[in-house]
Amino acid sequence: MSVHPSIGIFDVAEDCLAVGGIPLDRLTERVGTTPFFAYDRRLINSRISNLRSVLPKDVTLSYAVKANPMPALVQHMAGLVDSFDVASAYEMKTALDTVVPPSNISFAGPGKTSQELSQAVAAGVTIEMESAGEAMRIVEAGNRLGIRPRVALRVNPDYQVKGSGMKMGGGSQQFGIDAEEVPALLRHLASADLDFVGFHVFAGSQNLHADILCDALSHNVELLLKLAETCGYPVRYLNLGGGFGIPYFEKDQPLDLVPVGRRLSDLVESAIRPALPDARVVIELGRYLVGESGVYVTRVVDRKVSRGRTYLVVDGGLHHQLAASGNFGQIIRRNYPLIIGNRMGVEDRETVSVVGCLCTPLDLLGENVCLPPAQVGDLVVIFQAGAYGLTASPTAFLGHPMPPEILV
Ligand SMILES: *Cc1c(COP(=O)(O)O)cnc(C)c1O
Repeated sequence: MSVHPSIGIFDVAEDCLAVGGIPLDRLTERVGTTPFFAYDRRLINSRISNLRSVLPKDVTLSYAVKANPMPALVQHMAGLVDSFDVASAYEMKTALDTVVPPSNISFAGPGKTSQELSQAVAAGVTIEMESAGEAMRIVEAGNRLGIRPRVALRVNPDYQVKGSGMKMGGGSQQFGIDAEEVPALLRHLASADLDFVGFHVFAGSQNLHADILCDALSHNVELLLKLAETCGYPVRYLNLGGGFGIPYFEKDQPLDLVPVGRRLSDLVESAIRPALPDARVVIELGRYLVGESGVYVTRVVDRKVSRGRTYLVVDGGLHHQLAASGNFGQIIRRNYPLIIGNRMGVEDRETVSVVGCLCTPLDLLGENVCLPPAQVGDLVVIFQAGAYGLTASPTAFLGHPMPPEILV
């Protein structure tokens, strides 16, 4: 049987999966309870050094904190990336607690409240303006505080990126400012007391197709350079977005980074540097940096057969790891890779369904999966839990305790 590529990146110690080099049975004792999330630092480190080796040297790397805002993990990321992208005041606080300077923190997202904008102005982070109304509220906050807000403009492009799991640009959007409206808005803002640094475009996420990502990068560069040329400000910041995907499902092929790195090098050399020799060029990634480094570990509490079908009932569920149940934006429910983490050496297989402990049929974690025969007390490991896991799940649903998260 072929092993999913994201399982293969973890070590195995005897019969156990190892996270951060520690066998799962021992790690579970250390945590003292199930379910829990564990993130492997070494996998994050190697993921980022691989990426750096492929990206051009003068492209900087930003981590989108919403993918995984665990404070210890964000602290770890502070030593590995150049900047952070945050999407709420709480994420901004987490990012400001690290050594990353405020000028290297960008705050994006629709619906930033006036309170959040004031906090961001006071902190000195770069606020990504997402509408004309928001721009006005930033100017007001700056005037009131006597601080010149540092801003960039998020552009909603006039094209779509195909093949993205989630579309966040092109057509009509709540994100960013429509490309054709940008020149007029910047003219309108010319007299305002703003430190305008440049442009941002983020058009979609979870893309596994290198050719599509290459084309999107080319389009983004073309669009942003055109806007930079006519905007009347010296552009110092060019955030090209990202959208690099990870392989969640059986047939998904990992993204081939090499052509993406090559395209980016070409674009930097032939288009960006001639026009903007000193601008900071940014690639902004969330799940690609951390998603595969994390596992969700949950224990089998019951094993039952209903009319010929075997169920493993675990002590976790969609309240902690919604995405694995197929209810976080997926159109067709497919299984996340999962294993019995303490029976790695067992050859026998049976077909079972793994269900969570919530009283809803939606709480399905693995449908008809082929696993070593498991007993009550065994540990089910669900992969791809390092991004959009705990904080993207309805943790209050049914009132179970919050699971611990550890960085190993
Ligand atoms: C969510 C988000 C990201 C990260 O997306 P991933 O798919 O996790 O890489 C990056 N930039 C912005 C503006 C976002 O909203």
